[in-house]
Amino acid sequence: MRFAFFDLDDTLVDSRTALRAWAVDFAAAYVPNGLHAAAAEEVFELVDLAVNWPAFLADARGRYGITASDEELMAQVAETYPGKFVLDDRVRSGLAELRAAGWLLGIVTNGSTLVQQAKVDSVGLRPYVDVVVDSEAAGHRKPDRRIFEVAAEKLGVELGPRGWMVGDRLDKDVAGGVAAGLRTVWITQGGQRAAGSAEPAPASTHAVASIFEAFQIVRESESDPEPESESESESATG
Ligand SMILES: [Mg+2]
Repeated sequence: MRFAFFDLDDTLVDSRTALRAWAVDFAAAYVPNGLHAAAAEEVFELVDLAVNWPAFLADARGRYGITASDEELMAQVAETYPGKFVLDDRVRSGLAELRAAGWLLGIVTNGSTLVQQAKVDSVGLRPYVDVVVDSEAAGHRKPDRRIFEVAAEKLGVELGPRGWMVGDRLDKDVAGGVAAGLRTVWITQGGQRAAGSAEPAPASTHAVASIFEAFQIVRESESDPEPESESESESATG
């Protein structure tokens, strides 16, 4: 069975736009003089740099003198952030076309169960994929191969070159996909943050500017010859 895994943030959805919108709400609620645009921009930059919510909240707590509990702050994030995401119609149709052609699809995302699963539901992605695996529930984060093992098991497939991993981070999505034996597409859109590493992309990785080109590569790979050509080498030695 052919299958493809997709990263969520900045791959299927534009997280930076959503994060900017969320930062306005957070600044208004928790930051002194938070109604100023500069405060929201600072919050956006802090959370963008921190990459994960606990790190951001720990930083923000000290910086802004926030007295709310971690639970309260995470609840604020879970309640307000997922609603800031929008799903591009072309992403919806790209996924629908793959499934119509018989592909099994999964989302493999690093992040908290609460926030990541809420994003998927908020934008209406859930009906377009077969599984959504977040790192908190899986107990492993990309690039660890084991998060892909969890996703493959849920999907009922074997990891290997019949599968794809598509994502915007070389150090997480591409490195993880390679570790899992998958073919990989790196979405270079997103610039320096996407690189995340001084290492060049592996030679086998397709580098494209957008998710739409990634859909096309995966779709057209249907007609690829089988990557495993075991019969020839076996007959040569036998
Ligand atoms: Mg990403």
